[in-house]
Order: sequence, then C-alpha cells, then structure tokens
Amino acid sequence: MYFLTEDERRLLQRKLLPEARTIQVHPTLRGWHWAEIDAPARPTYQAPLGVSEVANRYCSSGRDVFVQRVLGQRGFPTADMEEGTLLHAFAAAWVTAAKQLMYCTPTAAIMEALPKLLDDPIVLPEPAQTLSAEVAAKMQTMRRFETYRLLAATQGTLARQPDIGRDALAGQVLPVVVEQRVDGQFLGLSPHLAVDALFIHGPIVMDLKFGLRQPFHRLTTTGYALALESAHETPVDLGCIVYVRFGGGTLIVERDFHFIDDELRTRFIEERDRKQRLVEEELDPGLPDQCYERCRHLGFCGAEAQRRISSRTSRAATVRAAGTAGPGDAGRVAGSEPAAGPRRPASANLDAEPQFAESEEHWDSANRAS
Ligand code: SF4
Repeated sequence: MYFLTEDERRLLQRKLLPEARTIQVHPTLRGWHWAEIDAPARPTYQAPLGVSEVANRYCSSGRDVFVQRVLGQRGFPTADMEEGTLLHAFAAAWVTAAKQLMYCTPTAAIMEALPKLLDDPIVLPEPAQTLSAEVAAKMQTMRRFETYRLLAATQGTLARQPDIGRDALAGQVLPVVVEQRVDGQFLGLSPHLAVDALFIHGPIVMDLKFGLRQPFHRLTTTGYALALESAHETPVDLGCIVYVRFGGGTLIVERDFHFIDDELRTRFIEERDRKQRLVEEELDPGLPDQCYERCRHLGFCGAEAQRRISSRTSRAATVRAAGTAGPGDAGRVAGSEPAAGPRRPASANLDAEPQFAESEEHWDSANRAS
C-alpha cells in the first residue's frame, strides 16, 4: 500500500516535489511557528486532542468529541471500525516484519527469504484476537499484494546494485516509517500521535483508509504535517491519503496526493480551536442536522439522533425507488459502493480544490457517498 508505482515515482520526482518547493506556505502557518503570541498555530486551549478527533467530520457538529471527552462515553465501535483497526495494524506489522527479515538475512539470500512473508506465522503472525473469515482473507490478500511488490522492488534494486548492504537495501525498497510517533503538545494535540506512515523521500505524510473517500480526510494529513513540523522544525509539504479496497481477490489502491497548503493548515487550526473549546468549556454543540449512520455514539445520543439518520436513509430510498437518481447518484445510497467512474490520474488530485462539509447540504452529499 505504501509502494509507489513507477508512474507515481516519476510524478513525485518531476512534478510534486518541484512544485512543493515553489508553493509558498505562509511562514506563520508552519507547525514550528507556535510560540509567538499571535501565531495561528499557538493553541488557545489546553485539551489535548488526537489528530483524527480534530480532522474527522463524520459528526459535523463535533458532538462526538464532546460526548467522548466531556461525558466520558466511549460508545460502541461498529464492525467496520474494528475491521479497519485490525487492517491498519496488519499493514504496519507487514512493513515491520519485512524490514526485520531484510536486516536479519544476508543480501545474497534475501530473494529466497522474502516469500516467508506470504505464509510463515513466525515471520508475520496474524493478530491474536479472533478474526472473521472475511478479515483473515483480507489480511492474506494484503500479504500477497505487498510481498510480491517487495520481491519485484528488491530484485530490481539488486540487479542495479548487487553489492548493496542490508540497511541500504531496506531503505531503498521500503522508504517508509510506519506508526511514526510524534509529540503534538506544542500545538495543543496529543503527545502520543501516531502517523500511519511517513514516506521519507519528500517527506510525505501518508494516511491509510479502508473506507470511502471523504472530503475532510486531507485534514488528517495536515494535522500530522503540522505536528511533525512543530517537533522537527523541517517543512512537510505533501500528504497522501491511500484508499484501499478489496475486490477480485486483490487490492485496489488509489492515492490522493495533495499539498499541505495554507487553506488546509488554516482549516485544521480552526477545527482544533473549535473542538478544544467544546471540551474545555464543556459546551454541547448539539446534534447535527444529519447523523452519521455508523456513528459509535448513536445509542447514547438517542432516538432523535437515530431519527435524523432514518429521515435521510428513507429519503435516499425514496429517490432510489422513484428512479430519479442522476448518473452520479447510483452509488450514493448509504451502504453501497459509489458508481465506478473514469479513473483520474493521481496528478489530477492536485488540481482539485479540497472540499469541506461547510454546509449540511454538502455534508449530506458527502456522507451519502459512504
Ligand atoms: S449520534 Fe449524531 S450527534 Fe451523536 S455523536 Fe454521532 S453523529 Fe454526532
């Protein structure tokens, strides 16, 4: 999932990185600019939030943060959430196991050793907790997909650099750090943030998603970029959301490359301030016009929250039944996949302005896409 294709590498080297160097981020919106009295990144409130708490707008009013942080309700994770957690952990475990194998094996024997990543339970154990057959099959698909790509990358590197050492080889074929820890305290964030992956040639903040694309996902990479800048005082200008789906016995991977520009930085900082205030001043923002149908707090927020879902679901069903859905609406009914459309090249993502759920109408459309 973190391996770039040859086309993506060229895109990165010839377009994204050169453009990132020319795009001017306003100096006051860098993560390291947090100490001055008038710095936007300087936190006004103290409540340390996670990046996903700030970035996510599944609950557009932010009541999910209030319910969890102020009322202490953790809610009940849905099956989707639990599966996503397991798959995230497995993706990180695969990278760690692959690097471990590369460091413990003489380079001359590495091509014979790497296939152990496919099925050796000692090299890469499955999670201890009970897995459904479906999740286990998805993990097996991930193993195959990643291992075959690693084999190809390793073989290509060895053909060009037969005398390469273990460390250099691992850095060349797996240039990512998974679960990078970063202290976000200077920005009023958690001291234990974990970035899904940091691609070191850039650097690029990568975030893995197993669900459907949402317009606010870029705020997640923005939050981590700001935190990394505050911790290391070096610029992080590129983000990439890696969307992973399963189909036809393989993975379907789409990458949304984007610049961490002034607009995204400002949006993240505004959301941080708004949600920290909710927590610190114990302000209940109330229910949004539409609740997220897979929200973990639906039971706690009660019948009114559930009614706000059902009204939307029934409206979608009415549209479906009446056959009035437009060409792009076929996949917008809750729980269904979006209609397949023409694939856009990764570079096209850079031309698209990030769209946020500014209004409930926008949120409604974005949410129905899931
Ligand atoms: S049930 Fe509705 S109001 Fe409550 S946290 Fe979820 S989306 Fe927000």
